[in-house]
Amino acid sequence: MKTPTETRHILDKVEAQHPGADTELRYRNAYELLVATILSAQSTDARVNLVTPALFKKYPDSRALAKSKTDELEELIHSTGFFRAKARSLAGMAKALVERHGGEVPSELDSLTELPGVGRKTANVVLGHALGVPGLAVDRHVLRVSNRIGIAESDDPVVVETQLCAALPKSRWTRASDTLILHGRRICKPKPLCEQCAVQDACDYYTAVAARPVGRKPLTARPPRPLRKQREARKR
Ligand code: SF4
Repeated sequence: MKTPTETRHILDKVEAQHPGADTELRYRNAYELLVATILSAQSTDARVNLVTPALFKKYPDSRALAKSKTDELEELIHSTGFFRAKARSLAGMAKALVERHGGEVPSELDSLTELPGVGRKTANVVLGHALGVPGLAVDRHVLRVSNRIGIAESDDPVVVETQLCAALPKSRWTRASDTLILHGRRICKPKPLCEQCAVQDACDYYTAVAARPVGRKPLTARPPRPLRKQREARKR
């Protein structure tokens, strides 16, 4: 795995390729970002942004959402997919906010992840963007990109979060996550566009797999590969 210094230099280059990386979800406060992030699971930020204006108009805060009627809530969020489960999460999350936190979104990771429907990734997104608390959210893009480059080495998002956080100052956590997500969406897709990548020269996956001579093995979509597997690939 890369050293912390190498990781920081690599992040410098990826950030330069995607200046101003930020969440694409639209929100005005922590409550709205929490709701939008829950809705973004298995959906796109663009789709969520189409749904949330009407949702936030009808349920402007956690107290209103806690009193929502299931059928009305499901109808509003239907197009984001998995709407029944998401409606249950939203209503449960809102009730828990009212009962445990006076209707406010807490600013501690543990308190957030105890809310229904709120995982570590969602909690870190809200902490980092809406509450001013550094958080490094690891989604499928961060997992794939960081393992390919070699700045992390695990299929477990919590382990990857720990490895990246250890290599970066807290002040970089949120931006690093946003940057790697954007890199995964635009360049390091499941089938990566390595020729357009700013960190090709430092990438373990490129060295081990993508740069292999033409005709030996085609570049195909792959799940995240820990470094151990990349080394095995190099030997073949
Ligand atoms: S060189 Fe290819 S595999 Fe490596 S980070 Fe860039 S796009 Fe992803």
